[in-house]
Amino acid sequence: MANKQFDVVVIGGGPGGYVAAIRAAQLGLTAACIEKEPYADPKGEVRLGGTCLNVGCIPSKALLQSSELYDQAGHSFVMHGISLDSLKIDVGTMVRRKDNIVTQLTGGIKGLFKKHKVTLLAGHGKFVGRDGDYWQVEVAGKDGVEVVDAKNVIVATGSKPRHLDGIPVDNKTICDNAGALSFDAVPKRLGVIGAGVIGLELGSVWKRLGSEVTILEALPEFLAAAEPAVAKEAWKTFTLKQGLNIYLDVRINKVTQGKKGVTVEYEVGDETRTLDCDKLIVSVGRMPCTDGLGAESVGLQIDERGRVVVDDHCQSNQPGIWAVGDVVRGAMLAHKGMEEGVMVAERIVGQAGHVNYDAIPWVMYTHPEIAWVGKTETQLKSEGVEFRAGQIPFAANGRALGQGDTTGFVKVLADARTDRILGVHIIGNNASELIAEAVVAMEFGASAEDLARTCHAHPTLSEAMHEAALAVDKRSLHF
Ligand code: FAD
Ligand code: NAD
Repeated sequence: MANKQFDVVVIGGGPGGYVAAIRAAQLGLTAACIEKEPYADPKGEVRLGGTCLNVGCIPSKALLQSSELYDQAGHSFVMHGISLDSLKIDVGTMVRRKDNIVTQLTGGIKGLFKKHKVTLLAGHGKFVGRDGDYWQVEVAGKDGVEVVDAKNVIVATGSKPRHLDGIPVDNKTICDNAGALSFDAVPKRLGVIGAGVIGLELGSVWKRLGSEVTILEALPEFLAAAEPAVAKEAWKTFTLKQGLNIYLDVRINKVTQGKKGVTVEYEVGDETRTLDCDKLIVSVGRMPCTDGLGAESVGLQIDERGRVVVDDHCQSNQPGIWAVGDVVRGAMLAHKGMEEGVMVAERIVGQAGHVNYDAIPWVMYTHPEIAWVGKTETQLKSEGVEFRAGQIPFAANGRALGQGDTTGFVKVLADARTDRILGVHIIGNNASELIAEAVVAMEFGASAEDLARTCHAHPTLSEAMHEAALAVDKRSLHF
């Protein structure tokens, strides 16, 4: 029997892959998406959505929301005159709620595939060769192996957690993101290796629910990629106000697993210390998934870090093979992968798909949230760019006061000569939503004055953005 033929075959059904497949179908191409992972599906059927929907963005944000409400009920309600006699958390209910959201959303993507006539091929996808105009891709599934032919292949195989030598992850006691999203009870003492996004987000979840949380970070600087003023405010809030124990400049010597938990031996300066904990999360970054892809059989170039080598438009070294998302250079963020998926589908049909890598927002969903787009002061200084800065604290914002949550600020950085916005940095309640305005402004090449002359609803947190833009020209009205 002849192989099935498609205009586009996507390998990997995460945000980069499923969006690429849907956009390709919208553009009139025949599209298929290969996905191998059932994640936690009770029937063992593949689940779309990749890391993001199954063990990443969505489940972590569900737990962050539940734990935030618990924390507010315990600590913030009282200032509004609301008192509770007793407060309890049922971790089982919290985790089931998270699982239900995941099931709903992953099932929703299968629905979108039906709507757009994208063929789902369940199994492990790998290149096996080329025949005429077509790349040949093998799909090894539960029911056997088939080979499909594709004029274009989009590799969207994503990433997996990086583990450390000598620290065996069993996702029961020593966990990566997958295990850390499904604890069945609040651990009394939680250790975390890595004070990056996952360490701080998941560390916050379990801290709010009552764990004693200790985070061990190798770098001497906290949140080195963030705006320095934001990192300083975050350090103060997370350690002094919220009680996360964060140690920097740490070297992990040894991790020993016993019947009752885990002991981490680590060094800080000349001192050797031990940390006893009931659970340990290892969150030290992620690695691209290109093993088992058959890249060598088609001459697909992979770099020394295991990523598919692509140009600015996600085109690989082979014609008709593209790659998007965590498996290529750049930020490992769901929205970056989705934008790349759209770009590639559009370029396949000859359109001018494009991603503006300078306007990709970053968000950490801690409390307060941290969000930024564009350059930091550190980057601008090292590039020798002259800039002006405007910074407004939420303490001067009426809505923040009304909400009882005034931590943080908005900071706008603009070119000293042209006033063009070069970066916007927010730490505070709802920073994840507020940053969208800055992203749009930067996409349109706006100046700080453009933001300053834009009417913002009153009273809203977005007025802090307005005031920060005014402050660039030293003419804030309410601070
Ligand atoms: P993935 O989502 O990893 O999907 C790749 C898919 O390909 C997987 O389903 C995998 O099973 C499949 N696959 C791999 N190899 C094959 C093969 N050979 N054959 C068939 N299928 C294959 N990002 C954000 O933007 N915001 C957040 O809030 C956020 N929170 C996160 C929280 C956590 C705990 C984690 C771990 C990540 C988070 N991320 C977040 C990152 C985000 O999840 C990733 O950037 C995103 O999922 C990458 O999308 P992708 O499509 O490139 O890859
Ligand atoms: P990360 O890169 O954000 O942080 C890893 C941290 O571990 C770094 O600070 C690093 O210095 C530290 N580290 C590395 N080796 C270490 C060692 N041996 N000992 C101690 N510390 C060590 O990675 P992550 O937190 O694992 O998250 C992975 C990726 O997933 C992120 O980079 C991000 O792209 C994505 N993610 C995004 C979000 C979001 O957008 N809100 C949330 C979670 C994850």
